[in-house]
Amino acid sequence: MTSRKRWEKIYTKQNPFTLPQSVARAVRSCSRDHISENGKHMVKYMWLYISADGFHDQAQPDQCMSGEEWLSVIDEGAALGVKYVILSIGGGLKEHPEVWRMCKWAQDTHGITVGIHLYDQPVTREELAPVTELDANLTHLFIDDDLLQRMSFVQELGVPVHSGEGQDQEIVSPDCHLPEEMTCVGASGTMYTCGLVLGEDEYRLGNVFERKLQSIMTDDSLPHVVPEGVPKIKHHCNGCPPLMIKRMKNGSHS
Ligand code: SF4
Repeated sequence: MTSRKRWEKIYTKQNPFTLPQSVARAVRSCSRDHISENGKHMVKYMWLYISADGFHDQAQPDQCMSGEEWLSVIDEGAALGVKYVILSIGGGLKEHPEVWRMCKWAQDTHGITVGIHLYDQPVTREELAPVTELDANLTHLFIDDDLLQRMSFVQELGVPVHSGEGQDQEIVSPDCHLPEEMTCVGASGTMYTCGLVLGEDEYRLGNVFERKLQSIMTDDSLPHVVPEGVPKIKHHCNGCPPLMIKRMKNGSHS
């Protein structure tokens, strides 16, 4: 199914915008001078929710973006200065072979450090085997604690393994400004402030099919901060890129 057909399936009303894939390719080829504003990277982290798990996102499996579309999202992020990408996968890796191409593309084309965050379901040694073919200097695994206990083989893969757990708080406190430097994209291309609020309308920023990331990230009318008091019962900020990268830099393994 073409991207446009899938878009029409996701949104029954007529889509007034054009598919961004060609735009994203063009963005990538633009001068990197406009990447930075006042010498700062506009976006440093990218958080991609690959699985339509019905838990974090309302996307149905047949609404998931294709591998090619994900590559365009990565291209757009790279053009905005993204240095770190976390791919959160909760539905097993067998269903998402595109993950490996995305990782390789991010590393080889853009020099991006990639973290694979596994939650909800353990994966097998065979499913995870392609991780050994990625750039070892730019690859990290983040695995939620309950899964780590059932996946002891990951320590033998030669890839740094870290806990995927976020913050052990019941609510966000104080306001969290980390999303100001981050994009978070769900399985169908809908963007949210961050993974904690993925699927919540109040924090929906738009869809990669209807707006460029740059336009979304610079739109001050959109919520780029998670306010104090938002409950963390559902997700506990697991896999959150700034938290994971800090853990990675501190060298704290599982
Ligand atoms: S997941 Fe948690 S720590 Fe990360 S940006 Fe959202 S509220 Fe902040």
